[in-house]
Amino acid sequence: MAYDNYYIADQFTLLSKLMDIHGENTFKSKSYSSAAFNIEKLPLSLAETPAEKLSTLKGIGDSVAKKVLEILETGKLQALEDMIKKTPPGVLEMLNIKGIGPKKIATIWKEMEVESLGELLYACNENRLMLYKGFGEKTQTNVQEAIEFYFRNQGSHLFAETEAYAAAVDATLKENFTGARFALTGEFRRGLEIINQLEWVTTATPNALKQYFLDGQYTIEDEHDAGITVKSPENKKLAFHVTDDARFTARLFETSCSDVFLDACRAKKEWSSIHDAQTEEELLTRLGLADIPVYLREQEWVLNHTALQPVIQTADIKAIIHSHSNWSDGGNTIEEMAKACIALGYEYMVISDHSKSAFYANGLSEERIREQHRYVDELNEKLKPFKIFKSIESDILNDGSLDYPDAVLSTFDLVIASVHSNLKMTEEKAMMRLLKAIENPYTTILGHPTGRLLLSRKGYPVDHTKIIDACAAHHVVIELNAHPRRLDMDWRWIREATGKNVLISIDPDAHTIEGFDDCRHGVLAAQKGGLTKEQNLSSFSLKEFEAFLSKKKRG
Ligand SMILES: [Zn+2]
Ligand SMILES: [Zn+2]
Repeated sequence: MAYDNYYIADQFTLLSKLMDIHGENTFKSKSYSSAAFNIEKLPLSLAETPAEKLSTLKGIGDSVAKKVLEILETGKLQALEDMIKKTPPGVLEMLNIKGIGPKKIATIWKEMEVESLGELLYACNENRLMLYKGFGEKTQTNVQEAIEFYFRNQGSHLFAETEAYAAAVDATLKENFTGARFALTGEFRRGLEIINQLEWVTTATPNALKQYFLDGQYTIEDEHDAGITVKSPENKKLAFHVTDDARFTARLFETSCSDVFLDACRAKKEWSSIHDAQTEEELLTRLGLADIPVYLREQEWVLNHTALQPVIQTADIKAIIHSHSNWSDGGNTIEEMAKACIALGYEYMVISDHSKSAFYANGLSEERIREQHRYVDELNEKLKPFKIFKSIESDILNDGSLDYPDAVLSTFDLVIASVHSNLKMTEEKAMMRLLKAIENPYTTILGHPTGRLLLSRKGYPVDHTKIIDACAAHHVVIELNAHPRRLDMDWRWIREATGKNVLISIDPDAHTIEGFDDCRHGVLAAQKGGLTKEQNLSSFSLKEFEAFLSKKKRG
């Protein structure tokens, strides 16, 4: 295969960028980037140039000529391969983001210790970029937008990021196919945290759908009698299950259950009777099941209950627990946040700025904690009966201890303990840190227990059952961090936790007033785990919350 000049130039460009990221010889990296520039401008093809002539071409010296030959012969450049091997894939991916060049990427990786785009986006969200040299507020906003754009163009999306799109497509379809029925189904209808494709059940014909999408510049990925799958110009996958009026409900039911749940339903002898059910309630009754809401059609345990307890609703959230103010890395003053809470009808707020080890987040020194507590006392006087609780998001240090001595920890109403540093660790190490933090008598809530960032960071490996057991033994609440990129703990573990009487707390981890709205996503996830409001700490009334805290303090 012949490699064209552009391909060759690209190898040099990438090599030069990676050398800059790794802080290697700038003279050399500059010579590679100018070689790339010159190669793109050459009027002749390098592949067709005799080897001995290469080094005589404008802008190409001996060393570059040697590398050009290597590419022409092998298709690769060893120096580049070596450089790629030394770079985490997430850092390589940052090169796709407009607005951050190699120098900035080096700072992001080496100084901020951020190794993936998802983490970087989250760091923008926490205003962390602005603290570094060369990054202003404007850069931070640009980077944030560029990453969001990049993510939108990848295959999978957070639920939160597909909501508006799904609603818009749904409305347009119903408008354009008068007389046909459309209903959103699949992962989206169940409210899964990650959406790989949007799905509809419809009575429109595959042909009509095909024509409509071709006209709209969509690409057809798959088509058959029972449906069609297309990809939108924005790179979103849409799948359509075609059926008739009579079977519409049955098809909707089938396509919106998880595989495990559906298999269990199919195994029932009544399954053959469902095809003409007109409502899902009727269908479930025919199967001898309770009226199981769609978000619960995930796990098998749901099938064994004839009556389900009502699950938590957004309106059941009575408080904002876990929030950051401008004392650390948040965007608003505590007073602004408290007033927003009052306006939204919340009864109290837990202010939990970062602790002193989180230097990147302007974590609070012991002196500033005392100062903040005086300020909170004043505000509480002013804002009665609303109450602000004094808390801290205390870093769980490398050895599992919390970030302050007991004398300081005892001055908080409650403590949220979270891991923020050295996230790359074995399960053994992670469990040692977490269990020690859970055993600490000052820990009230275990914050985002795995540290995952959906679609970008897996989270450290943990043994969920052991964590749940330890929290049960030490009366520690497990957070369900409601940020749509976290949703940590994973809802799949809620049932086990509540079965062992461990409380969950749906917390927005808000860094601005707008962040309060994330509670909604936490509730959606919690519903999937069957959480009731009685099992959720942030649903406690002010009185109940105070009683809970004093009981915890008494041990
Ligand atoms: Zn945190
Ligand atoms: Zn936090």
